[in-house]
Amino acid sequence: MDYPNYFKSYSVFLLDNYIEELTENVIGITKSGKFSVCRFLKQFSDATIYANIKRELEDILHDIIHDTPYDALAKKIALWKDGKDSILRKDLSVRDINSGNYIIKTVVLDFLRYYECSKIELIALVKEITDYFQTSTEMGLNAIEEIQNEELSDKDEIIHGILTNIPVVITRINKEGRVTYSAGKGLEPLGRKDNDTVNFSIYHDYIFPENIENAKLALSGKSVSYIGRSLSLSGELREFQNYFIPVNTGIIGFSLDVTERVEEEERFRSFIDAVKDYAIFRLSPEGYIKSWNEGAEALKGYKKSEIIGKHFSIFYDKELQEDHFPEYELEQATRNGKFETEGFRLRKDGSRFWANVIITALFDKNNTLVGFTKITRNLTERKLAEERLRTSEERFRSLVEGVKDYAIFLLEPDGTIASWNEGAKRIKGYNEDEIIGKHFSIFYTEEKKKQKYPEYELVQAGIHGKFEDEGLRVRKDGTTFYANVLITALHDASGKLIGYSKITRDLTERKFLEESLQAMNADLENKVKERTDELLKTIKELKRINNDLDNFIYTASHDLKAPISNIEGLISNLFEELGEQSLLNVDLREIKEMIDISVEKFQMTIKDLTEIAKIQKESLENVELVGLSDLIDDVKITISDQIAKNNAEIIYHLDDCNEIKFVRKNLKSIIYNLISNGIKYRSPDRNPIVKIMCSSDEFYNTIICQDNGLGIKAENIDKIFNMFKRFHDHVEGSGVGLYIVKRIIENAGGRIDVESVEGEGSIFKVILPKGEFELH
Ligand code: ADP
Repeated sequence: MDYPNYFKSYSVFLLDNYIEELTENVIGITKSGKFSVCRFLKQFSDATIYANIKRELEDILHDIIHDTPYDALAKKIALWKDGKDSILRKDLSVRDINSGNYIIKTVVLDFLRYYECSKIELIALVKEITDYFQTSTEMGLNAIEEIQNEELSDKDEIIHGILTNIPVVITRINKEGRVTYSAGKGLEPLGRKDNDTVNFSIYHDYIFPENIENAKLALSGKSVSYIGRSLSLSGELREFQNYFIPVNTGIIGFSLDVTERVEEEERFRSFIDAVKDYAIFRLSPEGYIKSWNEGAEALKGYKKSEIIGKHFSIFYDKELQEDHFPEYELEQATRNGKFETEGFRLRKDGSRFWANVIITALFDKNNTLVGFTKITRNLTERKLAEERLRTSEERFRSLVEGVKDYAIFLLEPDGTIASWNEGAKRIKGYNEDEIIGKHFSIFYTEEKKKQKYPEYELVQAGIHGKFEDEGLRVRKDGTTFYANVLITALHDASGKLIGYSKITRDLTERKFLEESLQAMNADLENKVKERTDELLKTIKELKRINNDLDNFIYTASHDLKAPISNIEGLISNLFEELGEQSLLNVDLREIKEMIDISVEKFQMTIKDLTEIAKIQKESLENVELVGLSDLIDDVKITISDQIAKNNAEIIYHLDDCNEIKFVRKNLKSIIYNLISNGIKYRSPDRNPIVKIMCSSDEFYNTIICQDNGLGIKAENIDKIFNMFKRFHDHVEGSGVGLYIVKRIIENAGGRIDVESVEGEGSIFKVILPKGEFELH
């Protein structure tokens, strides 16, 4: 590659005289730049930038001088391949006219390698670098203009030299609108060669209107810069950044093939559009919304058509608007290049979300503010999660702190106390400030400390995850208490032991309770024993009394029989002696009759007592199978007079219990008493009807005797079974019948119940166990 001599000599001149100065200039330009890329550079020391720029400059100039245009580049590529250099973008690997600019880019890319930034920031950065590229082209153009103004003799040669190295097309158009020169590497993608289009007329041969219009404008004396289309010979559409500069002879056109860049920008834009998690949009310098992506629509709920042109304060709460917060954000971004904040923002539907907002100010090459980009991220989920975590942690902490019945605290892996709660304070007596940082063995007795027992507990908890124990622990005041201790090992996500939690419960009270409960139990047992003994004694006593009573009844009935018979005999002897005449005396006769009645009553009572006495003597040996229907018939015969006299009706339904195992005489006594009472205590209003029913199950025979007689007053029901108790005097009776019935039944292990309605009748229910079953 032949560089023009001019370049070579100028390069030697620069290397020899001005390289230092040039380098300083470049640093100055670099650091004063308004792009954020430049601000990144500020993070480098001047020395670093200086060394970098100097090396690059020397490389470039050296290549020019020695005609080795690709050596420096080749070196870079080799480094890059070895992974020792930063990414080299294709377009950046091409040398710019303005080498200083090239150096900036190289430095930036070097820097990027070490700079950790978010994806979005990186994208913004790459975009800015691309903008640099454009700027550099403009700068190149200025250089050409200068060269032209200097009217150097070999200018075509110079231009040609430039053209062979960069993808530009230089076109000269004369005042008539005809192409007089066209050359450059930029022609390659169009499939054209140098001067292919000489003699083309902008009016007749140009196809695309933007090219015609801008060429006309330039011919009228105006510099233009625009993106225009060109068709390659194979029919491919390409895009060029065109600069038309009016000169004395017509126009010089400088066209840079930007097809790839446009495509890339297109990709970039569609990437921005497609970003769903971020609302990314542009604002005018005044804060009016100029672009809108899908993420913005998803996040804020506005469609592109309804939000473009609105002021971005629409996303802020009224209070923030009144405080001029949106304006403040723009001010800050303008001043510092960037403003980042978090806060609530509004959706179209009025709902709020927690947002992270980054506003970046955009400046053009003249350092004029051209607007802002705003990136909003929805952090609601993260915020909520954080909030939840925080409140649950707080809740847990206050819960633990407030627990009074348990000492709950944390230990470092070595057993140092790291936290303290109310319960710990209460149980152990230490305040938080005096115990945190101490070793937990302080709670152990000297003996246990000597045995290294606290350490043993931690080891056990470490091995098994948990360790539970009961034993004596020591309070601050030296007193001991009986404790239940649970130590749990705590691990972090990677499984590393980070400490222990320890829960201690004071069991002294429980111990005390247990002990007093035991004492109470023993006391109770004693009392029960005493009571049982007393009861047994009473029962024994009662049995003895009962026995005495039975004996008395027996003796009385037996011993009184003879004297009363004697009295009866003596009275009749007396009256015989007195002679028949004496009975004519009314008084004497009445006395005799009264004596006879009394004797008779006396004898009846003795008879009843004899009956009672007999029941006690009755043994189970006389038990037999008694046919109930026969027995009832037997009773009916016995009381046939009573039945006839009262017009009584005796009915029975005996079902499956016709035969009952019982002492025959006793069963007859039961049936006799119940039936005869049913007739005796009849209602004067109706003929007596007595119904006997019997049913049987696995364990019991149940005999029911129902009458339609006078019935019994409710308050008397309980007493009718008492000895000598009577509630009706209009008929003869002794008040012993039901007493005998009850005793017979209870002696046999059974039970008798009565239900009665006064004026309607009574039902007696006799339940007799079969075999060993007893009712109580
Ligand atoms: P007595 O029949 O000899 O009086 P009981 O012991 O058989 O003695 O009965 C006690 C009392 O119970 C009776 O005096 C009577 O007042 C009441 N009584 C017994 N059976 C009946 C009955 N079926 N209907 C009404 N009252 C009855």
